[in-house]
Amino acid sequence: MSGVASSLGSVLGRLSKVRLATDIPLSPATVIRRKRQRRQMFDMIGISFLIDAGILLIYAFAGTTPFWIASTYGLCGLLSVALFIAASEANMNDRYRDHYFIVQQTSICLAIMLTFLYLAPEVGCLFLCSILLTFTFAALRSSLRQTILGWTAAAIGLAILFIGTDKPIGMPHGTLLERFATMLVFTLVLGRGMIVGLFSSSLHESLYRRGLELKEAYRKIEELAELDELTGALNRRRIMQNLEEEITQSQRGNMPCAVALIDLDWFKRINDRFGHPAGDEALRTFAITVFANIRGIDKFGRYGGEEFLLILPEASDGAALRTVERLRRIVAALDWSAISQDMSVTMSAGVTMLQKDDSADSILARADRLLYQAKDLGRNQTVSA
Ligand code: GH3
Ligand code: MG
Ligand code: MG
Repeated sequence: MSGVASSLGSVLGRLSKVRLATDIPLSPATVIRRKRQRRQMFDMIGISFLIDAGILLIYAFAGTTPFWIASTYGLCGLLSVALFIAASEANMNDRYRDHYFIVQQTSICLAIMLTFLYLAPEVGCLFLCSILLTFTFAALRSSLRQTILGWTAAAIGLAILFIGTDKPIGMPHGTLLERFATMLVFTLVLGRGMIVGLFSSSLHESLYRRGLELKEAYRKIEELAELDELTGALNRRRIMQNLEEEITQSQRGNMPCAVALIDLDWFKRINDRFGHPAGDEALRTFAITVFANIRGIDKFGRYGGEEFLLILPEASDGAALRTVERLRRIVAALDWSAISQDMSVTMSAGVTMLQKDDSADSILARADRLLYQAKDLGRNQTVSA
């Protein structure tokens, strides 16, 4: 069965020369979702054929058209739907860009409806309404090229029937039963048309929601690209960009600028003693503390691990040292036992001023040397050049 279905699928794909879309890998969840959506659509088409077959049966009882028209029309419709369901269940559709096989479905439905319009023109209004419904539905998912192709095929078929033959195309209304069946043709097509409309607006709604979700995801990506995920400080890439910008601006404007390299003391021991999650929490608390005690124009970023970079634009030598020294005292005095009992955290810092011919590398190298002097002096120290 699946072998037959897969060959059906490839025939359907080749028939339409739809471009293969194997370059877009689909997740298993997407494959299942798309299959479920297709199944809903096929069920709707199948039910639509059954409704038309039912009305044709009423026309048959009224003596307007032979019984075999109703049964054959229903059978042809259901057979075509079964063919598409088989291809869909064998996952053949996902290999093609138009996974709904809109062109093929519209073509087959149109062929069936035009054939029966030719065979039973006395109930022509039913087939004409069904053609209208088919195209309303197809328009929801068709490209401009597909719409033009479909319309051309329908126009040629209808021209052959209306102009090429002299068959009278009827809208039966001679007896009460005929009037009832014709009333059903119009009211039920109207109803199905409204369902298509509702389907279209729910599609529009879900696309709108998907758009909002994408916007939000994009905003988050942009934010993450700038910020360090753990501490909320600027990430290394961003703080290095800031450093380059501040160096250029300060040197051009002949303004002072201080840079501090800050490293948390004995952090490996803190992790070993209190656990990595507590270490993470300490890093977050440290970052929040720094943010609460620096100016709006200062830039603070995570340079790596438990090492941070603080840029203090327009700060004089003395002001920069005072700021960093104040941070050091605040950090040392903080109640770290809220994270873990007996925890205490201190920091060491190397503070240096921007020189005329400094580059990012040279100023960082100087700050790093000063930081290691602070470590050598026993940690929990601020050393300035
Ligand atoms: P020193 O006072 O000389 O700086 O000693 P230290 O232990 O702080 O320095 P060392 O470079 O030996 O260790 C740094 C530690 O920081 C090791 C590493 O596990 C820890 N660390 C780095 N990044 C993170 C992080 O994101 N979370 C946690 N919990 N620990 C981190
Ligand atoms: Mg350290
Ligand atoms: Mg370190």
